[in-house]
Amino acid sequence: MTAAAPIDVSLMAERADAYRALREALSLHIPDERLIHDALRTLAYGTDASFYRLIPKLVVRVHDEQELGHVLRECRVRKLPVTFRAAGTSLSGQAVTDSVLIQLGGEWRGVEILEQGNRIRLQPGVIGARANQLLAPFGRKIGPDPASINSCMIGGIAANNASGMCCGTAHNSYRTVEDMRVILADGSCLDTADRHSVAAFRKSHATLLASLEKMADEIRHDTPLAERIRHKYRLKNTTGYSSMRWLTMSMASRFSST
Ligand SMILES: Cc1cc2nc3c(=O)[nH]c(=O)nc-3n(C[C@H](O)[C@H](O)[C@H](O)COP(=O)(O)OP(=O)(O)OC[C@H]3O[C@@H](n4cnc5c(N)ncnc54)[C@H](O)[C@@H]3O)c2cc1C
Repeated sequence: MTAAAPIDVSLMAERADAYRALREALSLHIPDERLIHDALRTLAYGTDASFYRLIPKLVVRVHDEQELGHVLRECRVRKLPVTFRAAGTSLSGQAVTDSVLIQLGGEWRGVEILEQGNRIRLQPGVIGARANQLLAPFGRKIGPDPASINSCMIGGIAANNASGMCCGTAHNSYRTVEDMRVILADGSCLDTADRHSVAAFRKSHATLLASLEKMADEIRHDTPLAERIRHKYRLKNTTGYSSMRWLTMSMASRFSST
């Protein structure tokens, strides 16, 4: 039998200090009832619909974009990983973590129906079935149709690139999302539907865009890898909707001058 690796006690203490410092920093802006760290509730947040369990050190219920940017920045400076949770119906442990869990709930249920239901703007806390209920009078529905649609939320549907029996790979989020408003890990905001936001992002994140472009180029020239990605997306790929983008679109063109 081989000996297990020794536990680094000083590292554990350092991490515990980092989470304590994070909580203190966040409590200056976020009320204590939305910073959950007691044993019982973190245990409850330690599961999603999968068979995995990871107990978060801290659960933060975030109410708006400003708060979210603040939480992400504070975690980033302390190098503490974050995971988002919408309805927590993921089957492969996507919504559990032993670090910081960010939950977007009731305050993120904004809906705007556009062009007679041809398009819809949804915040991440909207339940999929609710979006369909609102689109029904226009004879429309959202593309993704996971069997969990009565519970799961737009944030989770989009991040999982969820799809069901009817939509297959033809109408999943990857195929049907036109634009997105995102808060990046550095706390900055990009709204791809707003040309001013895109222009500002191109300037502020030029280095990031250049390295993404370089990676895309490498992947496009790696024939076996490019083929593997195409094959995966032809079948059904619910593990994020980004890798196919490497092959179909240049970052430079998406963020080119407006
Ligand atoms: C009974 C049952 C049936 C199901 N049927 C299907 C099916 O037919 N097809 C299918 O694809 N899946 C299915 N699922 C899996 C799951 O329900 C879906 O993938 C669903 O879309 C997940 O949504 P959620 O709101 O529960 O997200 P969560 O599980 O909470 O999160 C999913 C992922 O999204 C991320 N996330 C959540 N919100 C945000 C945000 N605001 N910003 C960034 N990232 C975010 C999380 O970190 C996580 O990685 C099923 C699950 C169950 C329990």
